[in-house]
Amino acid sequence: MTSPYLELVASLRQAFPQPVSDRVHDAYFVFSFLRALDQLDAMKSVSPLLGKPALLDYEGARLSRVEDAPQSLEHVTQMLVQHLSGLFIWGHPRAQINVVPPPTIASIIGGLLPSIYNPNLVSEESSKQVAVAEVEVSSMTASMIGYDPAQSAGLFTFGGTATVLYGVKLGLAKACPESGRTGLRERIVILCSERAHYACLTVANWLGIGQDNVIQIPCSAENEMRTCLLETMAREVLAGGGKIAAIVATMGTTDHFGLDDLGTIHDIRDRLVDEFKLDYVPHIHADAVIGWAWSVFNDYDFHVNALDFRPRTVRALAGARRRIQQLPLADSVGIDFHKTGFCPYISTLFLVKNSHDLELISREQSDTPYLFHDGHYHPGRYTLETSRSGSGTLAALANLRLFGKNGLRSLLGHVVAMAEELREHLEGHAATTVVNRGNFGPVTLFRVYPDGVDTFSIAEHELKEASYREKLLAHNEYNRRIFHLVQADALKGEGVVISLTDCYRETDYGEPMVALKSYILSPFAEEKYIEAVLESLWKAREKIAAEDRA
Ligand SMILES: *Cc1c(COP(=O)(O)O)cnc(C)c1O
Repeated sequence: MTSPYLELVASLRQAFPQPVSDRVHDAYFVFSFLRALDQLDAMKSVSPLLGKPALLDYEGARLSRVEDAPQSLEHVTQMLVQHLSGLFIWGHPRAQINVVPPPTIASIIGGLLPSIYNPNLVSEESSKQVAVAEVEVSSMTASMIGYDPAQSAGLFTFGGTATVLYGVKLGLAKACPESGRTGLRERIVILCSERAHYACLTVANWLGIGQDNVIQIPCSAENEMRTCLLETMAREVLAGGGKIAAIVATMGTTDHFGLDDLGTIHDIRDRLVDEFKLDYVPHIHADAVIGWAWSVFNDYDFHVNALDFRPRTVRALAGARRRIQQLPLADSVGIDFHKTGFCPYISTLFLVKNSHDLELISREQSDTPYLFHDGHYHPGRYTLETSRSGSGTLAALANLRLFGKNGLRSLLGHVVAMAEELREHLEGHAATTVVNRGNFGPVTLFRVYPDGVDTFSIAEHELKEASYREKLLAHNEYNRRIFHLVQADALKGEGVVISLTDCYRETDYGEPMVALKSYILSPFAEEKYIEAVLESLWKAREKIAAEDRA
């Protein structure tokens, strides 16, 4: 008679991949996964949702407790699958929701393999060739954005926010070298644009800089930092005895795909160092978590246009490249493969132009550049994290190899072409106005108006004139109603799911301007789905007009 615990161990052994090859058990492993995929597949339909819209039962969730008895793998899998029901299918052609890509099969496998063998990127001892993959992806990406891979270094981390954290931390170490030990004792600021991601605030808060010391520079109509104001505000800080931890340039803002002018920002930084005889060089971090992918066009010949993009698409891609090719001017760059690189969460790379910068945040100071100290790779000496998964790294490597430059160019070119198509229609119609006009990316922000509104001038009036407050608020509400009708249509598999942003910007008199947002990232996007968006908008307008008449 064996003890009960040994029986349980024996049965639970079946729930682990076998350490020594066992073909029969391998088949069980693969088949278990296949069953999960089958169940998920059965939840697909013409609607861009897995299964049905789900009621989220938090009450029930709070009553959940761990049971005494183990459950079978089959049972657990089924339960897990259920937790995916109601999710949007980001890659569905009827989904234009947000900057969330559908992951490729290669990147899914890249993400899965490490979860089976659990490499830990804290050291090369525990990660071996996965550590090599981190160096590989860092070099490939560095070279793509225009860094010298022989000088630069990279590490995978926990999301775009973490890349801002690393960038600002390096800047702090440069401006206040003792602050890591003594804490902050002087006023130090982060400069970024008013459209920068709130990660800048988070980072200032968590690093002890203080959110109030994030200076948000007003933007132009193109959602770019107004660099003349950057210069004025930076000068004020320095003249007042303050320091600059970092200037964060946003290369692809979250909602508008605004691209800051890094060239001018870099010139201003250098000028201020001279003028104020600074004993440190304020760090420039490029938050390019969205825009980095466009660097694949840095060496694309738009004149020859071998991939045969349409003229409007060429214009948009070249317009984005104009800014993105300045990326190598930044001292560090944040890159999300889980945004515009078609990888599963989390796949985020932080790149520094000069690998020696990492010594500033190393736990063990040494005079040898320790990136390859004694010929060995020791990322655990300078990463914030201890354990780091290899999933993001292998997923990124998978897609860089799967796509090659031409694959990524084609995918980006396609989504931009679709966005241009939508913009062309929206700009051409009397009832709609595009509010991120002149934009070159895959995101379109627009407002819809009822009959009788002059859409050529209304957005401008609403933005600048307080006398339009009432109208603005009414139109905000109108756009919310349109959104709900379009959403309902989409869930029936007729329209397309788009999203609503409560405040794409504030008016000059301090009210939020609501906008509808189409973010196209699906490789399955096609013209007929652009038409479906428009039809759904017209249907919603008519419905509201009828309701309001009634
Ligand atoms: C999404 C985003 C972030 C945050 O990145 P995560 O990967 O979601 O943590 C930071 N900056 C910008 C501009 C973003 O769009």
